Amino acid sequence: MATTVLKPDHTAARRHMLFTDEHEDLRNSLTAWVRNELHPHRNEWEETTWPSEVMRRAGELGYLGLCFPEEYGGQGGDYYYSLIRAECMSHAGSGGTVMGFAVQTDMVLPVIDLLGTDEQKQRYLAPGIRGEKIGALGITEPGAGSDVAGVRTKAIRDGDEYVVSGSKTFITNGPRADFIVLVVKTDPEARHEGISLLIVDLRDEAGDHVPGFTVSRELEKMGMHASDTGELTFDEVRVPAENLLGEEGKGFYHISWELQGERLVASAGANAAAERMFERTLDYAKEREAFGRPIGRFQAIRHKFAEMATQIEASKQFTYSVAWRFKNGEYPVREITEAKLFSSRMCCDVADECVQILGGYGYMKEYEIERAYRDVRLNRIGAGTDEIMLDVIGRSYGL
Ligand SMILES: Cc1cc2nc3c(=O)[nH]c(=O)nc-3n(C[C@H](O)[C@H](O)[C@H](O)COP(=O)(O)OP(=O)(O)OC[C@H]3O[C@@H](n4cnc5c(N)ncnc54)[C@H](O)[C@@H]3O)c2cc1C
Repeated sequence: MATTVLKPDHTAARRHMLFTDEHEDLRNSLTAWVRNELHPHRNEWEETTWPSEVMRRAGELGYLGLCFPEEYGGQGGDYYYSLIRAECMSHAGSGGTVMGFAVQTDMVLPVIDLLGTDEQKQRYLAPGIRGEKIGALGITEPGAGSDVAGVRTKAIRDGDEYVVSGSKTFITNGPRADFIVLVVKTDPEARHEGISLLIVDLRDEAGDHVPGFTVSRELEKMGMHASDTGELTFDEVRVPAENLLGEEGKGFYHISWELQGERLVASAGANAAAERMFERTLDYAKEREAFGRPIGRFQAIRHKFAEMATQIEASKQFTYSVAWRFKNGEYPVREITEAKLFSSRMCCDVADECVQILGGYGYMKEYEIERAYRDVRLNRIGAGTDEIMLDVIGRSYGL
């Protein structure tokens, strides 16, 4: 009887059990588009920010509506398509571009899809899916970030309108946005129960900012230079009452739901960013020689790759398993929070090790690990800081 010899096959393409052929087809086409149409512009967009036309192009190709209903122009796919999109976008080589798109597809549009009226979906979800309207999400204020219930922007009912006054800061896509999903206090005296969500048009038909709205500052950042980030001021901006999103006074719970999806997609994005840094650094370590051999052949460097690969794989598997629960109707807040915390830290650790492996070249702009190192640092702050993630997890045990 012939003996079967099993040899490890390290190069086999491993499709995760979550994903079907259709998921993988999308992965292939989206990755090709990102490599062909986004990646070549990564350096230019660090200076100019990503042009809004690429959002329209993504809309034409159907990449913005993967998980949204067909009646609003989406593809009606399941939640895994969002994960795949986050993973594919990492090939752009531009964290700022990835973030600008993620705000549209995974922060702004899902909450309108979940809570919006048919009319709101026709006015914001459908053109958002087509990439014709660009949205922003306004939670953070100069005086309230982690403490969402502490927001002060108020929306006071006046007849069939709300009058909105206050300011928001660190708002991604804010300077270019056509509309914003705004977290406001409809009852300024209350904390959680006083919060509501409003969809606010920021531009009129001619594309000019509406009366009372200004981009008070465009902010300069450590990384994510391809994205526009603004401080926004609302001075008695009049918003039709029909633009209330969800229920008045329930905005805190609505936005908490939004944050779960955002954090899970952030986990997938952090894992993918770590994979891209790993791949680039691996190529380098196989070519760069010191003391007569490729640096990857030193045990000290080889073990860094082994550590990083193990961390990346663990983080991916964890994210996928939490996504499976989320997709199947559970609301696993503790595990989503753990995945966000773990992947963000892992990604920053990988960035640091990759800079180290590239040595002086890791510190140079042309090798692009330097950019990734700055870009990914945001993961431990945005969508909830590490400290807030730890607090959510700790409290979930009744502490
Ligand atoms: C580039 C960029 C893009 C962003 N995009 C958006 C956007 O599009 N929309 C939006 O609304 N926001 C956006 N943000 C804001 C982001 O979500 C906030 O920065 C983040 O939630 C933290 O809020 P903060 O900066 O006010 O920090 P703070 O809340 O002031 O926290 C400061 C420090 O105190 C710690 N801390 C606070 N509370 C606690 C606590 N209870 N226990 C322990 N530690 C605590 C924090 O962890 C942190 O270390 C963006 C931020 C950046 C930098």
